[in-house]
Amino acid sequence: MNYKNYPMVSRVVFGRGSFNQLGDIISPKRKNIKAPFIFLVDDVFKGNSWLTSRIPLAYNDQLLYISADEEPKTSQVDELVEQIILNHKDRPSGIIGIGGGTILDLAKAVAILLTNEGEAKNYQGWDLVKTPAIYHVGVPTISGTGAEVSRTTVLTGPQKKLGINSDYTPFDQVILDPELTKDVPKDQWFYTGMDCYIHCIESLNGTYLNAFSQSYGEKAYQLCLEIFMEDNLSVEDSQDKLMMASWHGGMSIAYSQVGVAHALSYGLSYLLGTKHGIGNCVVFDHLEEFYPDGVKLFKQMKKKHQIHLPQGLCAHLSDEEFDIMIDVALGLEPLWINAVGKNWKQVITRDKLKGLYQKM
Ligand code: NAD
Ligand code: ZN
Repeated sequence: MNYKNYPMVSRVVFGRGSFNQLGDIISPKRKNIKAPFIFLVDDVFKGNSWLTSRIPLAYNDQLLYISADEEPKTSQVDELVEQIILNHKDRPSGIIGIGGGTILDLAKAVAILLTNEGEAKNYQGWDLVKTPAIYHVGVPTISGTGAEVSRTTVLTGPQKKLGINSDYTPFDQVILDPELTKDVPKDQWFYTGMDCYIHCIESLNGTYLNAFSQSYGEKAYQLCLEIFMEDNLSVEDSQDKLMMASWHGGMSIAYSQVGVAHALSYGLSYLLGTKHGIGNCVVFDHLEEFYPDGVKLFKQMKKKHQIHLPQGLCAHLSDEEFDIMIDVALGLEPLWINAVGKNWKQVITRDKLKGLYQKM
């Protein structure tokens, strides 16, 4: 047995208002005045001076607003890298991502592709990155994905939706300032928060479970219950706790895996562009068979927060389209081994997956 030796985020700040320290934190990392910091910022913050006035631009630093309407693509990473190389003679001092999972994943991928030759699609998979990335910082503005702590950056490429999983992917620095999440719309809060809840359920009910994953997963699960099922938290406490739940949920799957909801939701996302948070919710709603207790509680949380999930996403799909989604889902072997066990192929047939997709 060879145990995996994982890197972690090397530095983390936590606290309401800690975003104010961004300038102090990154300035020692500036290589010279020509080597800029590149800030990738969710365009939802365009014109929002409460946040943007605190982005410490100096010298040749550049701020790029990026839409999170669509999840990151390998081609988008390639374009950003090219743009940065063309605009700046010197290699950047660092990349700072400010936003949700979409922007955090882009920041990680751009940092890797600035030092590794070729196209982003060539690095989708496990341990394909050869050269350390440039210094990269993550500042989450919505909580749940665990992208701020994970060893992957999930990208949709021409052939597949798959992460760049590598030792060089995790952030060198993360700033956890729960105040930054204050204006997240309620539905989105629920969808992305449920990504964390689903990470816990899939990790805690998986065959890969071990004490490392369990300790993080149980903590994140307990925080999710406080946040989504009980009524005695202040708004601030709830934001603080969800940010830490996301962190723990991400740590939990680092040493295990996700499961059925993620496998099926990757299929939805690949074919229909359904976003991760909402897609996971749409799928998870139909997974009583795999996660009876987790799904029961999910339905209660949905009801309590008056969330209405879209119905009939797959109602008008052709057989060929179902096949595309099923191929994507079945391609994620580690997720199925985690969810069902080594003999998963006996249980998880194409017909079974089609039947599930037809309910969505
Ligand atoms: P997101 O980044 O897609 O953002 C969702 C929406 O919330 C967007 O409209 C965005 O503009 C908005 N938003 C973000 N912060 C806001 C704020 N403070 N105020 C108002 N609006 C705000 O959402 P997400 O759910 O965090 O991320 C999903 C992405 O994360 C997917 O691409 C998924 O593949 C990826 N992901 C990555 C990992 C990983 O380990 N790398 C894990 C899970 C998911
Ligand atoms: Zn997820």
